[in-house]
Amino acid sequence: MSWSFETDPEYQAQLDWVADFVEQEVAPLDLVFETPYDTADKAMMSALRPLQEQVRERGLWGCHLGADLGGPGYGQLKLALLNEQLGRSRFAPRAFGTQAPDSGNSEILAHYGTEEQKARWLQPLLDGDIVSCYSMTEPHGGSDPTSFRTQAVRDGDEWVITGEKWFSSNARYADFFITMVVTNPEVSAYQGMSMFIIPADTLGITTIRNVGLAGESEGTGSHGYLRYEGVRVPADHLLGGEGQAFAIAQTRLGGGRIHHAMRTMAQVSRAFDMMCERALSRTTKGQLLGSLQMTQEKIADSWMQMEQFRLILLRTAWLIDRHNDYLRVRKDIAAIKVLTAQVLHDVVQRSIQLHGSLGVTDELPLMDMLRDATWLALGDGPSEVHKITLARQVLRNYEAGDELWPSEHIPPKREAARAKFAHLLELEVGNQ
Ligand SMILES: Cc1cc2nc3c(=O)[nH]c(=O)nc-3n(C[C@H](O)[C@H](O)[C@H](O)COP(=O)(O)OP(=O)(O)OC[C@H]3O[C@@H](n4cnc5c(N)ncnc54)[C@H](O)[C@@H]3O)c2cc1C
Repeated sequence: MSWSFETDPEYQAQLDWVADFVEQEVAPLDLVFETPYDTADKAMMSALRPLQEQVRERGLWGCHLGADLGGPGYGQLKLALLNEQLGRSRFAPRAFGTQAPDSGNSEILAHYGTEEQKARWLQPLLDGDIVSCYSMTEPHGGSDPTSFRTQAVRDGDEWVITGEKWFSSNARYADFFITMVVTNPEVSAYQGMSMFIIPADTLGITTIRNVGLAGESEGTGSHGYLRYEGVRVPADHLLGGEGQAFAIAQTRLGGGRIHHAMRTMAQVSRAFDMMCERALSRTTKGQLLGSLQMTQEKIADSWMQMEQFRLILLRTAWLIDRHNDYLRVRKDIAAIKVLTAQVLHDVVQRSIQLHGSLGVTDELPLMDMLRDATWLALGDGPSEVHKITLARQVLRNYEAGDELWPSEHIPPKREAARAKFAHLLELEVGNQ
């Protein structure tokens, strides 16, 4: 088991309970039901509800929420450790009321929503009675939101929305969408885009298709390719102020990325555990795989990556608690976003290799993890964009040298050092 920063025995007891509960009660759902979001699936909901009740009784429901919203108000560090346990099962976030994209959507509704919006959408979302969708990416390019074209035009007391959105996850199950659109094409996208809350049954929304990820069973795709055609919503469906979409999107993504990363950490350690078990169980030419140096290298490299990843994650969570300001940890969060995909990929790839042919089958969870590692490098923005953010943030702490040669150029430094010790060097020469 991994080490923990936590010394609070009460919290540690909660963590231990969560670890056991997820393993024994929740994870089996992963093997029986397709998705935790399909509220129309009666068998799934009947299996899920008693688990959600137990979580509530334990005081852990909506554990990402502050006390003002009915959550336990854990800081990010405690949440990170908890998410590491929840990451062991696809159904666990839903059992604990912390699933994406609802968790991020509830954060922005709480932050920017009016009292009416909170009563209509936030409360049932927090109660786990409805699910939501975040509809931002467009088919012609997601990495650059300034290129988005879906537009809303004001018509009296209503806005009329037209355009297409791509990869709106869970659109098919959602009761409402939070959709990012252009409201003023005359100004920069940073001032000209707004967020709307759109009930899923609003006239004019068509699902062109539900896109599935490679390897998912046919017909189960849940990433909506949506067309909004003259979709009318009342003016009070605007979330936050007009032109505030970028600020809202940033509020949404900061915490979400670190929670996602910590849940992924659970999958990294699962793949690592599998690798180690295999190394000690399988023999070739009379030798255990684990006694071969190339296997040992895989284990050592994986352990180092995994522990570095976990440390940077926990340090970032600790910094957020300390500063209570996501802007101060922008580079740390960008780094985490990149590492999430990279570390999962590397460790899973090595684990697959050690499992041989069995590793690539659907009889082990490793290929699913490899697919997840691939999309994690894209969802919430591609790794390249986060590396750019990271590098820019780092460079802010540096200045250009004011001379032709770098400040670490040795000849002038040596000259200065010699000048500093000139009196001693002269003495030495004089003594000879
Ligand atoms: C599983 C999954 C779930 C998702 N869920 C949602 C959701 O719920 N809601 C939503 O709105 N969107 C969602 N997305 C979409 C996601 O946000 C986009 O895929 C992402 O922003 C990238 O956009 P794109 O796919 O259009 O790729 P593009 O923008 O076409 O980029 C393609 C590639 O170009 C390169 N690239 C792009 N920009 C740069 C740059 N500045 N420098 C260097 N290289 C660059 C990168 O290699 C990048 O991967 C989801 C995606 C996935 C895979």
